[in-house]
Amino acid sequence: MYIKRKLNESLITFKGLRFGVKLREKSSHRYRVTVGIGGNVGDVKRRFEHLYMFLKRDKRVELLETSLILKNPPFGFVAQDDFLNSIIVLKVSMQPLAFLEYLHRVEKKFARKRSFANAPRTLDLDIIFFENRVIKTPRLTIPHESWSKRESVTIPLMDIKR
Ligand code: ADP
Ligand code: MG
Repeated sequence: MYIKRKLNESLITFKGLRFGVKLREKSSHRYRVTVGIGGNVGDVKRRFEHLYMFLKRDKRVELLETSLILKNPPFGFVAQDDFLNSIIVLKVSMQPLAFLEYLHRVEKKFARKRSFANAPRTLDLDIIFFENRVIKTPRLTIPHESWSKRESVTIPLMDIKR
């Protein structure tokens, strides 16, 4: 069940049991990371819920918070379905590159197939922030390159409590 709110002609937000919630912190891990999640193939809300349950059970991460889900039109390659995006905040003890590899494995688990840039996808996991670190390498840019220019990130981010 989701509470749906229309922001304008193209943007809709959804709040539910697992998205738009703050969890109780156990503080077993060291670094606070903000992750953008997105998808536009199949039942994305259901996949997000499965991801939520997977992350909650996985001892390598601690789930702290989730934002509402934003439905928004695609950019780049526009002849595809609207995207659903959300932000999740985790604590981890992995370093950034190890965490990126972890996210890639999770994407694979949720059947992500890489095809072309901005292509339709089942689940995209991007690191938006990692503590307050700044990293610029070919494999990893933190903060995420265009986070501040994308409504798919900024609107869910406004729903995060701190
Ligand atoms: P998209 O740009 O649409 O998210 P991909 O998910 O296929 O495309 O990511 C392409 C590459 O972007 C990854 O293999 C990764 O090495 C690189 N990358 C650079 N910075 C980041 C980041 N902050 N979070 C996730 N991936 C990143
Ligand atoms: Mg990505």
